[in-house]
Amino acid sequence: MKSTAPVNATALAAAATSLYASSHAAETGSVASILFVDQSGQLGGAEFSLLPLAVTWAAHREVLLLSDGPFRAKLEALGVPVRLACDTRVSGIRKEAVHLNWLMALPGVVRQIRTIARHAEAFDVLFLNTQKALVLGALGKPLHRRRIIWHLHDIMSDDHFGPLQRFIVKWLARCAVDHVVANSHASAASLVALTGCKPERVPVVHNGVDLDEFSRAGDADVNALRRRLGLPEQVYLAGLFGRLAPWKGQHVALEALARLPELHLVLVGSALFGEEAYAESLREQAARLGVGERLQFAGFRDDMPAWMKAVDVILHTSTEPEPFGRVIIEGMAAGRPVIAAAAGGVKEIVRHRKNGWLVPPGNVEALTEAIDILHAAPELAQRIADQALIDVSRHFSVEAYLEQMRRTIGKVTG
Ligand code: UDP
Repeated sequence: MKSTAPVNATALAAAATSLYASSHAAETGSVASILFVDQSGQLGGAEFSLLPLAVTWAAHREVLLLSDGPFRAKLEALGVPVRLACDTRVSGIRKEAVHLNWLMALPGVVRQIRTIARHAEAFDVLFLNTQKALVLGALGKPLHRRRIIWHLHDIMSDDHFGPLQRFIVKWLARCAVDHVVANSHASAASLVALTGCKPERVPVVHNGVDLDEFSRAGDADVNALRRRLGLPEQVYLAGLFGRLAPWKGQHVALEALARLPELHLVLVGSALFGEEAYAESLREQAARLGVGERLQFAGFRDDMPAWMKAVDVILHTSTEPEPFGRVIIEGMAAGRPVIAAAAGGVKEIVRHRKNGWLVPPGNVEALTEAIDILHAAPELAQRIADQALIDVSRHFSVEAYLEQMRRTIGKVTG
C-alpha cells in the first residue's frame, strides 16, 4: 500500500520557522553550531525527535547520516543540510551480534570515525543521536576534540544490549561524552546503573508531538482510510503502530485478536531493521489462529495522525521496557484511548484508567480484557481519551520538547 497523505513538511516547516524566529533573535549570538549524527536513514522514534530539533536549531547545523533512507528526504524537505557517510558493513552490524560484525567491519569503522571527526571540526558540538553514532563519534574525539552531547534513546539493560556493547558504551560515556540527555527517566536510570554516574548528570527531556498535525487530520481523511481498509461500517478497530519487531509484541496483539471475535486489527509499520522473518511469522500466526480476515498489514505509513484517528483503540504491546514510546503520546494526541504495556518510559506517560490503560507486558489475558472493557464502555474510553489529549498538550508538546532541549543544550554549551 502506498502512502496517501503528503509529508506534513510544509506545516512542520511553518511551525518550525515561527519557533525558530522567536528563539533566533535572542539567542543567535550565543548558540553553538552543531553536527547531529544519526546511524539510521529509517524513521524511528530517535529520528522523529531529532527532526524538529535539527529544523529549528538557531545556528549553523547539519545532519550526518550513516545510512541513507527516507529520513534524509524528510530532513532535506524541511531545509536541513544533510551529509551521508554510509558503509554497508558498518550499518549491517546488529546489536545482537556485535563481536564478529565489528571485526569484519573494522576498515569501514575506521573510515567512519575519520569522516565524522573531519566533519565535526567545522562545528562547536557533536550531537550523537543513536548508539552507533555514539561509538563512532566518541571514538574519534582525540581527532576532532569537540564537545560531545549524547541523546540517549535506549534502556541500557542486558535485555536490549549484549555485554560487549554495554562495556563499550559504559567507557565511552565515562571518558568521551561531555553531556547526556535521556528521553525518559527509565533510560536515564539505566545509564546511571551502567556507569555509576550521578543521576543529575543525566537530565531527562521527554519527546513531544506536533498537536496541530493531529488536529488537522479531519473526518474526510479518516473515513477515506477506513473505506480503503474495506471494513464493514461500525466495526470495532484496534491499531498497533510501530515497526514490526519481536520486542514490539505484535504477536501478543494477534493472540488477543483471536480471543475477541468482534475485533479488527490493523498493524501500521514495517520491518525496518532486518526483522522480515518476524513479519513473516506474524502472517503465519494469523493464519494459524484463523484471524487473517480481521487483520490488516498497512506497512510503513507517513500519515500517522489520520491512521491513528481511524481506529477506535490504540494498542502498545512491547514485551520489553520501552525507552519512551512516541506512539503512545501520538495516540493520545489523536484523541484515542491507548492501552499500553506498563514498563520503562511508558509509566512516565500513562496513568492507569486516567489518561490510558496499563497492562503487564506480554500478558494476553490483560490485553484482551482491557480491549473488551473499553469496547463495552465507550463513555469510559472517551473520558480517558479526553484526559489523554489534555495531558499530552500539557506535558508532551513539540514546543515544550524543543524549549527544554534548547535550554539543556544551551546550559552545557553556553
Ligand atoms: N512511525 C511512522 N510510520 C509507521 C510506523 C511508525 O511514522 O508506519 C513512527 C511513529 O509515528 C513514531 C515512531 O515511528 O513516531 C516510532 O517511535 P517509538 O518511540 O514509538 O518507537 P521506536 O521505533 O523508536 O522504538
